[in-house]
Amino acid sequence: MKKECTIHAQRKIAEDTCEVVLCPVEGDFPFQAGQYVQVNLPEMRHADPKGASRVFSLVSSPCNVREFAVAFRATGSGFKKTLMELPRGSTVLVEGPSGFFTLPEDDAPVVWIAGGIGITPCLSMLRYLQDCAPAKEKKRNTLLVYANRDHAHAAYWDELKEREAADAHFSLKARFGGMDYETLAAAQREAGAAAWWYVVGPPGMVALAQQALQQLGVDARRVLTEEFSGYA
Ligand SMILES: Cc1cc2nc3c(=O)[nH]c(=O)nc-3n(C[C@H](O)[C@H](O)[C@H](O)COP(=O)(O)OP(=O)(O)OC[C@H]3O[C@@H](n4cnc5c(N)ncnc54)[C@H](O)[C@@H]3O)c2cc1C
Repeated sequence: MKKECTIHAQRKIAEDTCEVVLCPVEGDFPFQAGQYVQVNLPEMRHADPKGASRVFSLVSSPCNVREFAVAFRATGSGFKKTLMELPRGSTVLVEGPSGFFTLPEDDAPVVWIAGGIGITPCLSMLRYLQDCAPAKEKKRNTLLVYANRDHAHAAYWDELKEREAADAHFSLKARFGGMDYETLAAAQREAGAAAWWYVVGPPGMVALAQQALQQLGVDARRVLTEEFSGYA
């Protein structure tokens, strides 16, 4: 599906991190929590060797199909600088939604392993579960392991803390300074053998976490990964 959408809001949400809210010009934008879209810009204000489009996971939840949000690290690329500078009301073309990094059909616990801005699809799933999922799904046990270089870069941190305080089924573990084996081993002890594992972030972090989970004996069929290619 390709849809024209207007830029509704652009804001800084953490150190070097921005969020953009988009609204379909006509109709709704239905999606499943955890999916991604491709955003195509109509004009570029800054040169960009990689062109005028990028893929982003949706960070908002499908509870509201009249608008959706993406979030990204502000790396200084021409695409991102342009997206943040375009005036509100500008039209962009959005392709999608796509992807299978979505919640499982059974009711087993879910562990999200998010590296940096890899928080986006995890927060979308959490928002969906807490805000508008059917009552049965709201009881799913979830654990988020969120790794960032420091507190200032941890996007949506205050919201995550509030969501943890309000929901006995959700717990949050922060890791500052990079993901490590011990953190994942502790998550495994807490989540148990039946859990589904969702690993998302820069390719290096995804590979490290996958390797650690393998060493911990986690069944590879219960591990889903999403690499944010484009980040070193
Ligand atoms: C399924 C999927 C979902 C994705 N979802 C998201 C998402 O939700 N949010 C998101 O931000 N990205 C997401 N990405 C990655 C995204 O598509 C871009 O590749 C990424 O954001 C980098 O784009 P860029 O314009 O900043 O850099 P590019 O212009 O594509 O790359 C420029 C260069 O900058 C380097 N670079 C990387 N990180 C930094 C940094 N922190 N500072 C300086 N330079 C850096 C890169 O290595 C690269 O060589 C997703 C990718 C996929 C495949």
